[in-house]
Amino acid sequence: MRIAFLGLGDIGSLIASHLDRDPFALTVWNRTEAKARDFAASHRAAVAATPADAVRGAEVVITCLPSSAEVEAVLHGEHGMLDALEKGAVLLDCTSGDPPTSRSIAAELARRGVGFIDAPVSGGTTAAKAGSLTVMWGGEEKDFARVRTVVEAFGKKIVHAGPVGAGDALKAVNNALLAVHILSAGEGLALLVKAGVDAKTALEVINASSGRSNTSENLIPQRVLTRAFPRTFRLALLDKDIGIAEVLADELGAKTPVLSLAARRLHQAREILGEEVDHVEAVKMIEVENGVEIR
Ligand code: NDP
Repeated sequence: MRIAFLGLGDIGSLIASHLDRDPFALTVWNRTEAKARDFAASHRAAVAATPADAVRGAEVVITCLPSSAEVEAVLHGEHGMLDALEKGAVLLDCTSGDPPTSRSIAAELARRGVGFIDAPVSGGTTAAKAGSLTVMWGGEEKDFARVRTVVEAFGKKIVHAGPVGAGDALKAVNNALLAVHILSAGEGLALLVKAGVDAKTALEVINASSGRSNTSENLIPQRVLTRAFPRTFRLALLDKDIGIAEVLADELGAKTPVLSLAARRLHQAREILGEEVDHVEAVKMIEVENGVEIR
């Protein structure tokens, strides 16, 4: 099965690694070509010079880009892939995208006989390395049937969320919850440190109590207490995700004031800390505001 993979970023490169073996024949493209060449140096994948070159002859095309805007760009931009897509191919978009753009891309591709599945992933770079990502997909069963073996190569829990855009919606809300957990755990722990409670002692209790979350059990102990703050998932991307959830809530007239507040705070953190920091570094903004370190 011929696969084209576009977007070798923090998680894209790890997903692509699982597709570099039989029965797949992989071609990769990345905007910064040096990254594609680095990838090919340790894999058997071919490197394409443009999105159009990458997808010619491919049965499955995978995009893993920051947002749906970049997916649009590789479709319609210079040397874009739209006219080069094979009739009968499926575009599997692993970007955490936005539902309206995914729906409009799906409609445009359907007119050309090309399938579209939005298939955002969850589990971070650890699950991506292990090939055990959670995949929430939106689209039609007949299209998914053509990419199932591909998704199974990097996904473990694979769930049909609904029609095109449903995977994006689910992913945006999941990540909005992640943002709330990081911000609330950061505030709670900063408050306790100010109150004279040791952060490790506080976490020992919280993680045996009802306030615990993946953030308190894993992210804060491994990344904040150690001050390691590894870059695995950019804060800018989490800000984008909670923004997608906010737009969805606006469109549907849903009342989500807690998510809106978290979105504002995350946006503020992005403005202060910049585009390249990891998402967990949002805690640093709270630490500075409170004049304490959680360690
Ligand atoms: P990165 O920021 O690490 O990588 C982004 C990729 O997109 C790079 O290959 C980059 O190319 C490319 N790109 C950026 N802008 C453009 C453009 N205008 N045209 C073409 N290519 C472009 O992102 P991740 O790999 O971390 O994330 C990819 C997607 O997966 C996002 O939607 C993210 O929200 C989602 N995700 C990420 C997770 C993680 O743990 N990292 C977890 C779950 C989902 P270049 O090398 O040239 O910069």
